[in-house]
Amino acid sequence: SDFVVGLTGGIGSGKSTVGDLLVAAGAALVDTDAIAHELTAPGGAALPELVAAFGPQIADERGALDRAAMRRLAFADPVAKAKLEGILHPLIRQLAAERCRLASTPYVVLAVPLLVESGNYRQRCDRVLAVDCPESRQIERVMARNGMAENEVKAIMAAQATRQQRLAAADDVVFNDGGLAALSPQVAELHQKYLRLSAEKAK
Ligand code: ATP
Repeated sequence: SDFVVGLTGGIGSGKSTVGDLLVAAGAALVDTDAIAHELTAPGGAALPELVAAFGPQIADERGALDRAAMRRLAFADPVAKAKLEGILHPLIRQLAAERCRLASTPYVVLAVPLLVESGNYRQRCDRVLAVDCPESRQIERVMARNGMAENEVKAIMAAQATRQQRLAAADDVVFNDGGLAALSPQVAELHQKYLRLSAEKAK
């Protein structure tokens, strides 16, 4: 596919929900979070480099990245964090680009949680779609889904772009404050728009 819609939003805003609706409408989805998991699963393509950089204790007994150990290390040591990202991010970008190219749908949705924060994906997106909702709603959803405490959710949100930054970077916005009944028509309309825009680009 030659038309890429970058999908982004803060934690718990509803990115996955919107991505699923677009897939149901006929789009392909490439999810950078899912790719990161694949790359660090047992036998994942990032493991050899990660073990070379951080030592064998960074892998668990199945040969997958020990996420808890890696998180601790990255949290405590900015140099380790940069090294981790230097290994992982180029691999994620490369695989994501390949899968976008291979998709045979009229357009592809590229889900990137930190699209606004990282300049790297924006330039390859034809449109940026942000999922927006009040912060109180994000907190409520993530607490319910992950059993996290309010201050834990807030700490994650504090490290992400603000609503204003995301809205400023977006070409399109879905407002996901209500239930699915309010969300679906917005997504259906965007799907039609992306079919139109991708057809125009292909001319
Ligand atoms: P994360 O960044 O944490 O992965 P996300 O932005 O992908 O989150 P979702 O997983 O889509 O967000 O939504 C967060 C939670 O809120 C989920 O449990 C989802 O089912 C619920 N949710 C999101 N939008 C709606 C909606 N419109 N109606 C009902 N539930 C919703």
